[in-house]
Amino acid sequence: MRTLNDFDFKNKKAIIRVDFNVPLDENFKVTDATRIEAAKPTIDAILAQGGNVILMSHLGRPKGIEEKYSLQHILAKTSEILGVPVQFVSNCVGTEANTAAANLKPGEVLLLENLRFHSEEEAGDAAFAKELASLGDIYVNDAFGTAHRAHASTTIIAQFFPKDKCFGLLLAKEIESLNKVLKNSEKPVTAVLGGSKVSSKITVIENILDKVDHMIIGGGMTFTFVKALGGKIGNSICEDDKMELALEILKLAKEKGVQIHLPVDVVAADAFSNDAATQIVAVDKIPDGWQGLDAGPKSLEKIKEVILASKTILWNGPLGVFELENFANGTIALGNFIAEATAKGAFSLVGGGDSVAAVKQFGLENKVSYVSTGGGAMLEMLEGRVLPGIAAILD
Ligand code: AMP
Repeated sequence: MRTLNDFDFKNKKAIIRVDFNVPLDENFKVTDATRIEAAKPTIDAILAQGGNVILMSHLGRPKGIEEKYSLQHILAKTSEILGVPVQFVSNCVGTEANTAAANLKPGEVLLLENLRFHSEEEAGDAAFAKELASLGDIYVNDAFGTAHRAHASTTIIAQFFPKDKCFGLLLAKEIESLNKVLKNSEKPVTAVLGGSKVSSKITVIENILDKVDHMIIGGGMTFTFVKALGGKIGNSICEDDKMELALEILKLAKEKGVQIHLPVDVVAADAFSNDAATQIVAVDKIPDGWQGLDAGPKSLEKIKEVILASKTILWNGPLGVFELENFANGTIALGNFIAEATAKGAFSLVGGGDSVAAVKQFGLENKVSYVSTGGGAMLEMLEGRVLPGIAAILD
């Protein structure tokens, strides 16, 4: 795996694909700069060697040129985080970009305008990728969040750097962390899969059954399994058309010697609301008119036991409707169990938009081993797919 360490960036122009797709408020101020901060180590390392840096990213989903998606909005924040002035060019290709890139001196940073102002970016257009490529000497991909897309700047561009291409520090760390779970894992390995639907996680579940010893299933997808097993789930969320699949998973898990842990009890509510009346009931005896919205105490006890005995833990998806305070307990408890196991030496990887949000919200970010930055990209890797952005560098 070629990384920054395999190159000397002195007097070289590094063109780096970063993921600066950050949230902005109504005044176009960055509300969460995590993604910019995450790319800083790579940028710093190249600048420290006497290289210069051309940053390219997308922001949002513009249809053509849309001012509200201009990367100009994040320029000040990027300068602040990097601690150096950052130059900006209002088109990622063309004369202006060529001149700005050519005039860059060692230690300088240039941010290109939103790649997606050109439809060629998402189309993976080779001529557009070649134009981008002409700006730099070495291509660095540090954008895990888009590594599962074969776009011009994430994948196609790599072919114009047959040798001079590598992973940035962030992307290398993402790959390494996922490999610690999927390939070189220390046993016992436990995956916790929560969230709302079986359908969105099914391929992940099937793929990782070969790699884990325990699988904890929680959140809304529980009820598809419970109903398929003949339980009463009241008004809980359920995908009836996935019940057969749920039974197949349970059978497959048994064949592979994977222990599946479904909740035994839940916090049931009489409405999908923070003000709803609640009661703790057995997961398979939920009264009509009630729905399971969080893991119950007995379930959490079992989960704790499994997590604390694990050496490798993967967590994707909340155990309940954690956005509502009264149903966040299970997700918070799980986060704390994982933090405790990590403190005792387990390797823990948290990924997926909602679990990452939960970990941040509950202040557990620094108590797990790694928080993945790419939701969709991480899920695709867990599904066992080779991401085009990663393959293009390994090529
Ligand atoms: P996903 O995007 O599939 O990972 O699902 C995340 C969402 O699942 C969160 O917004 C949670 O509120 C929701 N969720 C978790 N548990 C439940 C549940 N028991 N019933 C309904 N939704 C749930």
